[in-house]
Amino acid sequence: MSNQDKGTAVVTGASSGIGAIYADRLAGQGYDLVLVARRADRLEELAERLRFAYGIKVSVIGADLSDDGDLRRVEQAISTDDSVTLLVNNAGLGGAQVVATAEADVAERMIKVNVVALTRLTRAVLPGLLSRNRGAIVNIASVLAFDTSFGGIYSGTKAYVVNFTEALQREVAGTKVAVQVVLPGATRTEFWEVAGSDIANVPQEIVMTADDLVDAALVGLAKGEAFTAPALADVAGVDAFLGVRQGFFGSLLAGKPAARYTA
Ligand code: NAP
Repeated sequence: MSNQDKGTAVVTGASSGIGAIYADRLAGQGYDLVLVARRADRLEELAERLRFAYGIKVSVIGADLSDDGDLRRVEQAISTDDSVTLLVNNAGLGGAQVVATAEADVAERMIKVNVVALTRLTRAVLPGLLSRNRGAIVNIASVLAFDTSFGGIYSGTKAYVVNFTEALQREVAGTKVAVQVVLPGATRTEFWEVAGSDIANVPQEIVMTADDLVDAALVGLAKGEAFTAPALADVAGVDAFLGVRQGFFGSLLAGKPAARYTA
């Protein structure tokens, strides 16, 4: 049964993989849903199943988030819906392109979906969440935010998601709005095929199912985690990493160049 207290969750990229699992789990928790992706036929099929299984309301927005007009249409729909309590910015695409040979349009589409749409959709719902002082934004990044060996374009988009979300956490501090960044590693979805690679080439012991990934990320959200890395065995690693990074940042600030540049 739809639980009016839960409100409505907007899930982008719900037509497959991680987004489809989020839709299923959130429906199970009693959220009504707004599902967004290009393949509206798949969204309709999922919506029908979830309405039947959970008795919730589901609406579907077929939209290409790399298209300015479509993106604004989604922004308009979700910014004016006062029932929205959760946004899962999950839609994304990857690829191991290197700059010299990447198709410029493919690179631009990746940046538009992974970065621009995530930013604009966050901007669309945040004022409403803050004014109602409740709800959450979940941004799906990637462990490749911290590794550039598969090319800088995808990694760069996900590093943006991490930094953007971290700053957003600071922005909502002191309110009842939660912000979480999720860092999937290799996850078995269509993502790999879409990116032109094969998950069979990845050591299978590091491949997670989308079900495990989403279930862990939702436990992290319920625990109030700001930074959820489902494969990270020791959560102290998050603070250790952030501490080292903060220390490095401090060491980059001085009024004069270092001695090695002035000898
Ligand atoms: P997936 O199965 O390929 O799902 C990607 C989703 O994004 C699909 O629903 C797709 O829907 C949607 N999407 C892609 N381009 C879009 C566009 N232009 N407009 C609207 N929607 C678009 O891949 P996934 O693994 O579930 O990926 C979900 C998120 O996890 C992504 O942000 C990805 O970067 C991240 N991630 C995945 C892995 C992994 O190993 N799978 C690892 C780290 C991070 P349509 O095609 O119907 O539009």
